[in-house]
Amino acid sequence: MGEYFQSIVDVEIGVHEAADAKSRLTAWLVDREVIEAGLTDCVLGEPGGGHAPGANYAYALGCQRDYVDPPRLWANGMAISVGRQVYWGGDLEAVICPRCARREQMRPREQGRWDTVFNDAIDDWVRGGAGLVECVGCGAQIGLNDWDWGYPWAFGALGVTVWNWDDLADDFVAEIGQVLGGHRLVYSANKL
Ligand SMILES: [Zn+2]
Repeated sequence: MGEYFQSIVDVEIGVHEAADAKSRLTAWLVDREVIEAGLTDCVLGEPGGGHAPGANYAYALGCQRDYVDPPRLWANGMAISVGRQVYWGGDLEAVICPRCARREQMRPREQGRWDTVFNDAIDDWVRGGAGLVECVGCGAQIGLNDWDWGYPWAFGALGVTVWNWDDLADDFVAEIGQVLGGHRLVYSANKL
């Protein structure tokens, strides 16, 4: 079986605000006992470790305290990552322009623009640029988070990832959005 993970990515936060926002969000989560304060080896892909589920893990699922137990797996924690990162949402069939609704095929891959124009835009964005891709249908310059990917791909400077947790409650995700200042969030769930 794979490792099930859910990500919540703030796609509006500036890279310079992200560290403060991480501190604020971590304090909020620790205060509600959703996570432990310390970092341990309980997540994948984050060398510094993650936060183990707290005594009130159930809060994140919208359940009563003590109603559910945290996953009894090695990877069962929460990572809060800062810095511009690409949060993979699934293999792409096509992307759709939000302005003119042109559908751009991504398969076969060698005939699409994924490895060329999109890849360049992602590199630019990771380095601090705007990461715009021109639509070949209408000519508009469109930001990476504004394309319709068909899957929730996200490009953001702050991301929360939980490993093998049960599905997060919508209200909990909304509360995280409030703690982060009402920014637009992209939620996704995947298996590694
Ligand atoms: Zn277009």
